[in-house]
Amino acid sequence: MDLVEFDIGGTIFKTKRSTLKSIDGSFLSNLDDTKDKYFFDTDPVLFRHVLNAHRKGIIHVPRDVCPLLFKEEILFWKLPLTLVAPCCWKYMYEAESDKDTYKILLQNRNKYDSCNKVDQTKAEACIAHFISSDDEKRTSDRSNTNGIVDGISENEQTMAFRIWLLLDEPGSSTAAKIWCYFYIFMVVLSVVVYIIWLDPSVRVSPYLTKDVELDDVLEDQQLYDYLVYIADINEKIIRLVLLDPHQALLCLDLFCVVFFVLETIVHFLVCPIKRKYFLNVYNWLKIFLCIAMLVSVVLEFRKDLLKVNDYAIGEMYHFFKSCCALRLLLIFRLHKIYDALHIMLLSVRYSVKELLLLLFSFLIAVIVYGCLIFASEIESTMFASPQISMWWSLITMTTIGYGDFYPTTTRGYVVGILCAINGIIVLALPIAAIASTFSNLYSRNAEFQKHLTEVRKQTLDTISKDNIIHHTDDISTVSCEENAK
Ligand SMILES: [Zn+2]
Repeated sequence: MDLVEFDIGGTIFKTKRSTLKSIDGSFLSNLDDTKDKYFFDTDPVLFRHVLNAHRKGIIHVPRDVCPLLFKEEILFWKLPLTLVAPCCWKYMYEAESDKDTYKILLQNRNKYDSCNKVDQTKAEACIAHFISSDDEKRTSDRSNTNGIVDGISENEQTMAFRIWLLLDEPGSSTAAKIWCYFYIFMVVLSVVVYIIWLDPSVRVSPYLTKDVELDDVLEDQQLYDYLVYIADINEKIIRLVLLDPHQALLCLDLFCVVFFVLETIVHFLVCPIKRKYFLNVYNWLKIFLCIAMLVSVVLEFRKDLLKVNDYAIGEMYHFFKSCCALRLLLIFRLHKIYDALHIMLLSVRYSVKELLLLLFSFLIAVIVYGCLIFASEIESTMFASPQISMWWSLITMTTIGYGDFYPTTTRGYVVGILCAINGIIVLALPIAAIASTFSNLYSRNAEFQKHLTEVRKQTLDTISKDNIIHHTDDISTVSCEENAK
């Protein structure tokens, strides 16, 4: 019998030469036929599985070895990946998708968070190195991490950079955190003011602009009624457009506007990389809000522009005023200190595919059921046009069901049932995918943070131990010298 002997890191393996030939193109099948003893300096535990693959013609991934390491081994011995048994695919590729998740977390981490910046950067550089180890952009990634460190040390001295950290990075210091909470408070305050502002009942008679014409309108009940009738606007609009807000509300609102505008200007001025400032959607929102708030304030003080018969300016005023409600979106700044929110935003960002699927499947279903109900209700007067039918199918599928339009024929009922059931399925499926992205990111993030903390702890331990060793070194050298004397 033609036996071949392998010495793998001290462990002896013996096998038939014919066994090695069973997998075409593998490293072992191409060995020299004249030699029958080989030595490889590698792990015998992994080699056992490589040999088994030749014996059985199939690869099972051992559970006591990291699948990434095992995959490397498979590639080294030139075994085709097609031999990996389906029962082991999940185990083998789970680790890879975990790696991708950590990559996302690393790319989107808070660079300036935590007091122990340097140690954390070290830990992150280590992870970045692991994650990008098989990518070509390894070097670029590493230089990137270094760039951040260099950037911090270079810029840390300047006043502008410190203000920027204070405004933009709540994790960088306690003051920055307090500032962030104050900012959130201002956002909430401004929104509360806005809501009360919109209530027609808290309006008081005009004091901002003395308008003779308007005073006439308000005093003369007949003229007022006539205007309501002729301009086809209701009392709510007249009160909102022509009357003024309560003085206290006006003061609070002005304070909020000044606060937000100043914050935006300062934030832009101190931003170290102006180009990056405009890449952030959040900053665009801030700029737009500033414009909207300023326009609505100006119009508030120039009520004479908002004549009852001049709709255009009045509508513009209301458009900008309603845009001010978007101020509530500024609360998303919290994501820098609130991990769960950060992960939620990330999962939305990385679930664009699923969201598009949701939109796409919904659109198809809305059109199909809209046309179906229109066709089956052709005899009734309920669905006047296909557009109304599509509105009905949208409202039915989202399980809202206003009941403003409803089927009246048997065929219509059948379509209604199908539409409602379909809606639940179409809604539920992509949402499950998005939720799984979220839960995956969320749990991986917990491990990611834990790892960073452990690394930091270890670094601190080593530093303190180093000090002790240095001390004992000093003592021993001293005693040696004394002995020599
Ligand atoms: Zn298996």
